Amino acid sequence: MEINETRRKIPERLHAAESPLREATQLLTDTQTAVDAATKERRAHEKDLDAHEAHTEKMKSHAASLKTNKEYQAHLFELELANKKRGDFEEKILLSMDKVDQLQKTAKELQDKKDALEKVFTREKQGLDAQDKELAAELAQLEASYREASLKVEKRLLERYNQVKASRKDQPLAAVRDGICAGCRLQIPPQLIAQVKRSDDLHICPYCRRMLYWEGEPVTETSSPLSEAKKADMEVGESV
Ligand SMILES: [Zn+2]
Repeated sequence: MEINETRRKIPERLHAAESPLREATQLLTDTQTAVDAATKERRAHEKDLDAHEAHTEKMKSHAASLKTNKEYQAHLFELELANKKRGDFEEKILLSMDKVDQLQKTAKELQDKKDALEKVFTREKQGLDAQDKELAAELAQLEASYREASLKVEKRLLERYNQVKASRKDQPLAAVRDGICAGCRLQIPPQLIAQVKRSDDLHICPYCRRMLYWEGEPVTETSSPLSEAKKADMEVGESV
């Protein structure tokens, strides 16, 4: 049961161990998306600049057809405006180039971090996989000896054992120690303790229904003075 419980938790542990790697991967993906967006933004500004330059060239080519001084003044004013606008576009391009650089630097750092975390996780995964394999082998061995031991148990007893095991989903046996059931930690009536000690029949805990057993040698009614002393030492209120 312990082995099954430990093995059951392995996927959870694996998931938890992978968590820093997942976070770094997500962060890297987000940063790469931001790099792409900033690059697109830069290209859009470059396109705007190209269009603006084309427009300005066209305007300049019209300069020869200007007739009056007023028209020429207006043209100079337009040119000045166009220059200013070009400056704005160039500024925007520089800013987005900076942004792309910064984001690419961050992406590089995150990539390194992700690579390192990947190595750590791979090691942890190998460890957990090995543990799982070891536990599976141990479990198979225990199951084999369980089957072997089952064959030696009286059928009626085995059936009761399996019933308790199935209903409790837990250890069906419990030792009687210091007057209490080791399974549920409740005090066992002295009369029942005496019966369990004799070990001549099967007794169950009245509280948790586990099958009780005595860890030492069976204690008979006609026991030696030594075991009588031991009995008196270990149990109280036993009826003889
Ligand atoms: Zn009990």
